[in-house]
Parts: sequence; structure tokens; C-alpha cells
Amino acid sequence: MGAHGAEMHELVEQLYPICRSITGDGVRETLRHVSGHIPLRVHEVPTGTPAFDWTVPREWNIRDATITDSEGRRIVDFRHHTLHVMSYSAPIDERMQLEALRPHLHTLPDQPDQIPYRTSYYNENWGFCLSQRQLDVLDDGEYHVRIESTLADGSLTYGECVIPGAEQAEFLLTCHICHPSLANDNLSGIAVLTWLGRALAARTNRFTYRLLFIPGTIGSLTWLSRNEDVVGRIRHGLTLAGVGDAAALTYKRSRRGTADIDRAVGLLLCDRDRDARIEDFSPYGYDERQFCSPGFDLPVGCLMRSPHNTYPEYHTSADDPSFVQPASLADTFAFLLSLIDLLERNGHYRNMSPKGEPQLGKRGLYPSTGGPTARQEQLAMLWVLNLADGHHTLIDIVERSGMPWNAVASAAERLAATDLLSAVPTSEAQTRPEP
Ligand code: ZN
Repeated sequence: MGAHGAEMHELVEQLYPICRSITGDGVRETLRHVSGHIPLRVHEVPTGTPAFDWTVPREWNIRDATITDSEGRRIVDFRHHTLHVMSYSAPIDERMQLEALRPHLHTLPDQPDQIPYRTSYYNENWGFCLSQRQLDVLDDGEYHVRIESTLADGSLTYGECVIPGAEQAEFLLTCHICHPSLANDNLSGIAVLTWLGRALAARTNRFTYRLLFIPGTIGSLTWLSRNEDVVGRIRHGLTLAGVGDAAALTYKRSRRGTADIDRAVGLLLCDRDRDARIEDFSPYGYDERQFCSPGFDLPVGCLMRSPHNTYPEYHTSADDPSFVQPASLADTFAFLLSLIDLLERNGHYRNMSPKGEPQLGKRGLYPSTGGPTARQEQLAMLWVLNLADGHHTLIDIVERSGMPWNAVASAAERLAATDLLSAVPTSEAQTRPEP
């Protein structure tokens, strides 16, 4: 198991029992746990605040919910599993016959032991979720249905952690925090992002990192509507979701498809794991659909392991902490660090001796020994010197040369330590016209 896998899994287990939704105390409690590990600013945005075409909804909180039979037995009990209540259920306290209750009961007939996950955020309703086996043994008769919830003006809560870097250019990393007791789809992203925040806060970075812990959809819309001034600084971005199951990594490209983040993942991912997959953008999925809406079109991709809705545990009680593997959390974390390393090292360089090939030997750059490694080092230096015209980035050079990232990046760093190569500041490189 890789570094931190067990600790991240422990956070998943701690957060698992909490009943989260898109608003409410479950989100606050979750963010309190996260803020024990990283410096987190918690924002409260009042009900009714507009967010483009949307509005921050009323806040939902729940204390208890049960279905009790005529003999007083608790047939369905929220205290046994947060999934038993449809999220955003309105309060109710009524006695009714099974037939009247049935339309409010949700099961998974194909997975008779699992409880489904259901929500009704924007349409006031109430409901219970239970296993098909629980439903099958219910007799006709009268049931007491009670949901002790409140739907009232309050606020939407999200967490933001900004880790300043040498540059104002930002790297945005987000996860959703709105699912109740679901481990892979929600808690895995929270755990990995928390540990990434710890790692980034403990070192010196080139980019400014902005980590968002937000409820899905309404959270990213709310953040975007309050941060249009920040949006222009976002150079790279990733939404993390479902990053703890045993499958290989899956990356979904940004809407642009050829942003640096898309290309960097392309260079790293398939070399690392031949089962890893890269998918094109589609306007469905997690919060990347808001960041990649045409009015923003940000370079934000989505990193997953099993994509949403492709595994039987998805949105069911089977997505519990045992479905999340410490080794998978650690692998996602390690991949993110290598991706960040690549993007931090990427940049524009200029050959300061561009007329003819410069003499490597007199600068001690010509390999004294032969062999394939030495030949690769030399070839990488020649590629860098040839394409370092201030317009090509190291990613461009890797793609054009077909050489490994590390060979090219190391060559550039070695050359930049001599008089032959000079790094072009990002700000200057960006004002240049496209070649
Ligand atoms: Zn989900």
C-alpha cells in the first residue's frame, strides 16, 4: 500500500455515518473534519442567492425518520442508514395504509439487499429508500410514517482552501461533499483532496492551489457566480470523484480537449497503467460540466477510477467504506502529485544560441559514456534546443519528439543551468501570439 492510503481511508470511515446533502449541518460537520487537516475557509451563502440560472435552495436538516408498523416496530430507521431517507424529504407525521405509502418507497429490485440513494432537491416531496427484501416482508396494514426534517431559509455551505504559490496562476481542484453515506462517490474525493492539500501546504509551489469542497452542481454554480474575478487565473483544473475503488484511473478531458491538463494526463496516465482510460468531454458527470460550460470553458477535467453509473455499487448502500481501497486512494494521490509535478515543471524556454547547434561538449553536457541512456539524454537536449523558441512548451516538445517527459524535462533543466537556455516567464510567454 502506498503512502497515506490507510490515513485517507480512516477519514472515509469517519465521514461515512454523517448525513450530508447539498445544504445543512452534515456538510458543516464534514468540513469541520476536513479543517482538522488543512486550512479551510468555510463559506455560508444565504438561501435565495442567485447563481446564474439557479438559486441557493432552502437549507435541509434531518433529526430522525422512521416507518413504524401497527405493533410499534421500527421497520425502516434513518438511524441505521442515512440512505433510508430520500434527501431533501419534507417533514411528515402520518398514519397510512401500505398502498398509500408504496409510491414513496424506493428499492432496487435487481439488487434486493441494497438500499438505493434518492434525492428530491428542487421538487418538494418525501420518500424512504429500503432494500427490496425489507419491502417484500411488509404486510398490508397501517404504518406510521414520520420524518423529522426541516426545510427552511438558511444557507449553502462550502469549504475553500487556497495555498498561495509563486505565481498568481491557479490550479483548481474540487470534490463534491453532498452525498450522505456513500464512500466512493463523495468521500474518496474528499479524502484524497484533503491529503493533497496537506502535501501542497507543506511545500513551495509555483502555482496557487485552490481546493474546493462543494455540494455538486449548486455548489460549483454558487462558487463560479461569486468568483468570476478568480476564474481568469485558473490555468489548470480537476474535479475528483469516485477515486477510491479498485479500478484503474479514468480521466475525462476538459471541453477544450487540448488544454495542458488534458495533454499532461495523456503523457502520464497510459504509460503508468495500461488499464487506465481517457475519455472525451461530455456535458454530463460531475462539476466539470459547470466549469466547462461555454460561458467559462475552463481547462478542467475530471479524474475518476470507475466512472459514475458504471458499477453496481454506484448510488447504493454497497458503496460503503469496504468498497474503497486504501491502495487505490494512495494510487490516486500519487498520480495527482506526479501530474502536479509535470505541470509545475512545464513551461516555455528560449535557446540563447539558436544559430547552428551549440557545442555541448565544451559545457560538459556531452555524455562521456555511450549507451542508450546517454544517447537519450543527448537527443532530449537536441530536441529542447531545437524547439525552445519561446513558443513551445516542454509538453509540446514531448509530444513532437515522442520522448519521455522526464528525459525532456531533465534536459531542459540541465540546459537552463548553462548559458544555452533561458526560461521564459509565464506572463511573457502568454502575451505572445500563437506561432
Ligand atoms: Zn453521485
